[in-house]
Amino acid sequence: MTTLKSGPAKPAPVPTPVTQPYWEGTQAGELRLQQCGCCGKHVFYPRSHCPACGADALSWVRTSGRGRLHSYVISHVAMPGWAGQTPYVIAVVQLEEGPRMMSNLVGVPADPAHLELDMPLEVVFEPRGEMMLPMFKPAGANQEAAR
Ligand SMILES: [Zn+2]
Repeated sequence: MTTLKSGPAKPAPVPTPVTQPYWEGTQAGELRLQQCGCCGKHVFYPRSHCPACGADALSWVRTSGRGRLHSYVISHVAMPGWAGQTPYVIAVVQLEEGPRMMSNLVGVPADPAHLELDMPLEVVFEPRGEMMLPMFKPAGANQEAAR
């Protein structure tokens, strides 16, 4: 097995016209979702029409940034840009507003003993190139404590 000491950077997202407001939100330190003006549902991932009722009346709203750990997997495989950072936690976060979002957990060891399903989480933002990516940490925890 080859271990890379330095390699490619982690890939950064490329905004599209539909996702641009989402990424503007992360730059501003806000987790924003679309909300339907017809049925009121929050929508993630960004799109042009509401998946619940089909309306095109989606507008952007700031969320609480809070959620709960719905599911996770601990990855021991270094994807490009992740050399030296395994293991890490890939999580599905149940957002307070309803949608689920895939992200990474930070500020907590990548160890099932520290990862309890339904544990409260809160969003933090980490730079990725020119972009800011939403990650989640245990609510109230110091993000750097477990790094
Ligand atoms: Zn709707």
